[in-house]
Amino acid sequence: MSRFRDGTIIAVASPPGRGAISLIRLSGPDSETLVRGQLRLAKGAEWRPRRPCLATLEDSSSRAVDQVLVTLFPAPASYTGEDVVEISCHGSPPVVQGILETLLRGGARLAEPGEFTLRAFLNQKMDLAQAEGVRDLIESQTAFQARVARDQIAGRLSAELRPYQNDLIRIISHMEAALEFVEDEVEPAGKAQLVKQMGGVDRGLGHLLDSFEFGRLVRDGFCVTIVGRPNAGKSSLFNSLVQQERVIVTDVPGTTRDAVAETIEVGGLPTQIVDTAGIRDAQDAVESLGVQKSLEYIERSDIILFVVDGSERFGEEDARVWPNIRELPCILVLNKLDLPKVIEVPMDIGQQCESVVAVSARHGTCVKELREAMGRVLAPAKGWERERVLITSIRHKRCLERAREHLSRALVACEDGLSEEFPVYDLRKALEEIGEVTGETTMEDILGQIFSTFCIGK
Ligand code: GDP
Repeated sequence: MSRFRDGTIIAVASPPGRGAISLIRLSGPDSETLVRGQLRLAKGAEWRPRRPCLATLEDSSSRAVDQVLVTLFPAPASYTGEDVVEISCHGSPPVVQGILETLLRGGARLAEPGEFTLRAFLNQKMDLAQAEGVRDLIESQTAFQARVARDQIAGRLSAELRPYQNDLIRIISHMEAALEFVEDEVEPAGKAQLVKQMGGVDRGLGHLLDSFEFGRLVRDGFCVTIVGRPNAGKSSLFNSLVQQERVIVTDVPGTTRDAVAETIEVGGLPTQIVDTAGIRDAQDAVESLGVQKSLEYIERSDIILFVVDGSERFGEEDARVWPNIRELPCILVLNKLDLPKVIEVPMDIGQQCESVVAVSARHGTCVKELREAMGRVLAPAKGWERERVLITSIRHKRCLERAREHLSRALVACEDGLSEEFPVYDLRKALEEIGEVTGETTMEDILGQIFSTFCIGK
């Protein structure tokens, strides 16, 4: 980690490729000198802190690379807490490359992923949970995900944890006083009070941990799988759902074929829609593999859309689909609403489904109603609590779980009447675990792991 601290780093902060403007950012002690050395300012112009300045940036042979707008943010009032320079240039890859090369030659080095935010953390511009919020905000795909990430950047999670940390510190210092000055031994009544306070911290952390089930969904989203017999209209429904809603992801990790899965927004959360017809078609040569894949998707689905052709009888092929999905929340989709209705769905199937919606996938009729039904099926089952602080990160969840394990050990030690040093040991551990969420007690190698998941330039 210490190697990260050194030097002046540079990275392109805007997305790769062509655009109106690209942004290059430097941070570190030499940022200003390095850039100033390459700038030709207009006559009489002055480059002052926090004021954008129009200038020509030249390469090492004094040839103009581009006309740029440069802004200097002197330490410590900058994103990283160090001297930061932002260069806005024309969004042309050769121009960006030219500026990078010039400044690299001047002595800057390319930033590692997340290194700007790492420096902000090391310079106490933000705590670790806030830094992770920055990453989550950049990765967010829906407005609701962005809001949860913004809350975390604003320090809501850290603020939620602080009272528990303070309680633990108070309990520990009480017990330690008793250890140091034997005559200060904690009175039985005082002891009971401390145990009660520990219980309070434990319950509070438990409550926060309960939010993870929903928090995970906020992060990772839902999975909805479309199943049904051939020709029921699965692919048509898939297309209709995907076309009507803005597609927010094209390449979902774990799904290799774009044709099979797309992510849309349902109730503010990313929802991956999987078309099992697509899987089967794509795997023609190895049909059984396709079926196997479909079953895997079905298993990890939050909802199944069971598509039947409403213009035909409910046949044996339809019935064969049912045993694979009956245990899961299903929406029965009566497709081909535009044709005369013939189907009569067996009573038990109709009753077991959470909802029945008639649509015409081909014409896009009532697909909106289907999406609303999906939102309704997903919402109550997943404790849709939008206002409270959510645990969305598995790292935070693990830290808090370990904190609770230590707390319960401390409680047992107190109940068993052991000397204070036993509960104090576990209480300190619990405090450390909470501190790992905010980065107060986080090891360097863990920091390295966390920041490597950021994008370059952030
Ligand atoms: P899959 O095998 O379940 O994926 O079914 P497809 O989506 O390929 O559809 C099978 C056939 O049904 C195609 O010829 C579609 O054009 C047709 N189809 C799908 N949805 C509708 C619909 O809403 N109305 C009508 N009339 N035809 C539809």
